[in-house]
Amino acid sequence: MSENTSDDPSLLVIAVDTNPSQIVIRKNPDALTKIINSISAFGNAHLMQKPQNKLAVVACHHHESKFLYPSAEKPQEFRQIDGQYEFFTFVEKSIKNNLSELIKNAPNISNNSESLLAGCLAMILCYILRIKKSQPTGSNLNTRILVVTGSEDSAHQYMTYMNVFFTAQKERVAIDICALDNTLVLLQQGCDITGGHYLKVPQLDGLLQYLLWIFLPDPSIRSKLALPPPVKVDYRAACFCHRELIDIGFVCSVCLSIFCKFSPICTTCSTVFKVPLPIKPKKKKLKT
Ligand SMILES: [Zn+2]
Ligand SMILES: [Zn+2]
Repeated sequence: MSENTSDDPSLLVIAVDTNPSQIVIRKNPDALTKIINSISAFGNAHLMQKPQNKLAVVACHHHESKFLYPSAEKPQEFRQIDGQYEFFTFVEKSIKNNLSELIKNAPNISNNSESLLAGCLAMILCYILRIKKSQPTGSNLNTRILVVTGSEDSAHQYMTYMNVFFTAQKERVAIDICALDNTLVLLQQGCDITGGHYLKVPQLDGLLQYLLWIFLPDPSIRSKLALPPPVKVDYRAACFCHRELIDIGFVCSVCLSIFCKFSPICTTCSTVFKVPLPIKPKKKKLKT
């Protein structure tokens, strides 16, 4: 395999969290429109850089993940607006129409439900691998994922996240994270593993500027740019029994599952461990 260079075309997949439970959206319902507008403009800026560049946008909701662009649905009627290049108008319209369909068809939720981000990333990886396979032999395609989310970390999805991160690392897919609200410990690990960049946006109003500044350049040329220094990554793992982040735990020597308490049978691979016997204190010999 040859090294990825900045001369090769690049495929960018944007995963945008559209879950209405996000605090950013609950506080200000206009925030989702702002985020989608910024993402459409950013996606078009990526396409503008090179004619062979490819783009995909996936919405991650609380009940499913769906491709907003490109989509299987027939392209709807569109006409040129204000002299904008037709293809860019098409990308923007597809994203907005498919998202409104997704929101219309979403089941109502009474309490907060988390976004299915880990599953969404797994779906994106499958898509990337399919596109890579369909490339003519000898041609190179740089691939990366950008996640834009205002959700909290979810230790429940720890296993899927780790599988996604290590697959992405193996397939040389960089994962960039743009956090809108919370500090995301698990996703920071993903950035670090795959060579992506993590940024917590200080102000939502400037989202497009942050995206263009930090996430538009390909990872291969980022080292030449003056970007914010990488964050210190918290490498704590989540225990498999309670899905909580722990500092010290027990690791199964067979399947490497992590537990916060000792258990004689591993719940993942059913290996039986010997229970450590309590050491009896030796009787002191009495002097005669
Ligand atoms: Zn536990
Ligand atoms: Zn095990």
